[in-house]
Amino acid sequence: MNHNPNAPALIDGFGRRVDYIRLSITDRCDFRCVYCMSEDVQFLPRDEVLSLEECSRLVKVFVSLGVKKVRITGGEPLVRKGALWLFNEIGHLPGLNELVVTTNGSQLEYQASALKQAGVRRINISLDTLDEARFRQITRVGELSKVLRGITTAKQARFEKIKLNTVLMRGINDDEAIPLVAFAIEHGLDISFIEEMPLGHVNHSRDSSFVSNEGTLKLLRSRYDLIGSVESTGGPARYWRVPNTNTKIGFISPHSHNFCESCNRVRITSKGELYLCLGQEHMVNLAPLLRQFPDDDLPLKEAIINSMHIKPKGHDFKPERNEPAVIRFMSHTGG
Ligand code: SAM
Ligand code: SF4
Repeated sequence: MNHNPNAPALIDGFGRRVDYIRLSITDRCDFRCVYCMSEDVQFLPRDEVLSLEECSRLVKVFVSLGVKKVRITGGEPLVRKGALWLFNEIGHLPGLNELVVTTNGSQLEYQASALKQAGVRRINISLDTLDEARFRQITRVGELSKVLRGITTAKQARFEKIKLNTVLMRGINDDEAIPLVAFAIEHGLDISFIEEMPLGHVNHSRDSSFVSNEGTLKLLRSRYDLIGSVESTGGPARYWRVPNTNTKIGFISPHSHNFCESCNRVRITSKGELYLCLGQEHMVNLAPLLRQFPDDDLPLKEAIINSMHIKPKGHDFKPERNEPAVIRFMSHTGG
């Protein structure tokens, strides 16, 4: 696909190279995490959601434009019927160096080894608590034991890396930073703490639930001799190593602007909207092009290349965290 060094690359108006896409393959989910969606969330009508064939075509087009890393996300990607077909379709695409998935873990006990075989190299599993009752409180409907079984199966499947994603909320699970890191160390996993982002309206006050990564890092440094790591993914994460373990701790601090300069990613929603920035409204709808030109990728490629001009310099999360910076939920844009 992209063997030619002169192949087109996606360069935005600020000279940043986009080589990473995050594709949401469904807005549906079997959980209802309190920071992510409202309890009575209305999902999209099925005919508005891209077919898996359309998702596969999009990935192939982006890879032909120099994209090297694809993250499949959602909603919960692994509850989408036929998701494994898609992973098998794109898992070994020439030019695609990394296929990764972000999941809540509920389906991993059934799907982890098939994902590995399909070519998924790394996997992110969301885990906010080790307490069953709290897990139910945060996810509203989820079962912790199922996710823990999923993590065990994923370890057995020998992914290159498994990373936990944790959102801490004041008064709910903010006392679990150390136990969750201890869990990650015990199982040889990485863990990233994600600051709660003001995406969509939720039932709680984001201001009172907000836990800063600065505070979490301070707490963890009082327990572990963390070593700063220079590693960067072009994203909003900063990493620390826990000496004598296989565990890296990441801090994803979206309120900080430092990372926008090196932003290398765009997001595609399950209905084919290409969002150029998680925290902004700039968007190009690719669905009509997919459907009007089923056998011709050129219009799609042109739209993607042209969209680079509207990729904003940075996000615009407001200081007042109760006001959603953008009205879309994370489950819409794809986390
Ligand atoms: N369902 C999968 C999962 O939970 O991992 C994938 C999609 S989920 C939207 C991706 C990530 O976004 C999860 O780690 C979740 O914790 C995070 N997330 C959702 N809403 C968020 C918010 N408002 N602020 C910060 N992180 C959020
Ligand atoms: Fe579902 Fe993931 Fe959102 Fe939780 S964070 S409701 S698991 S999409």
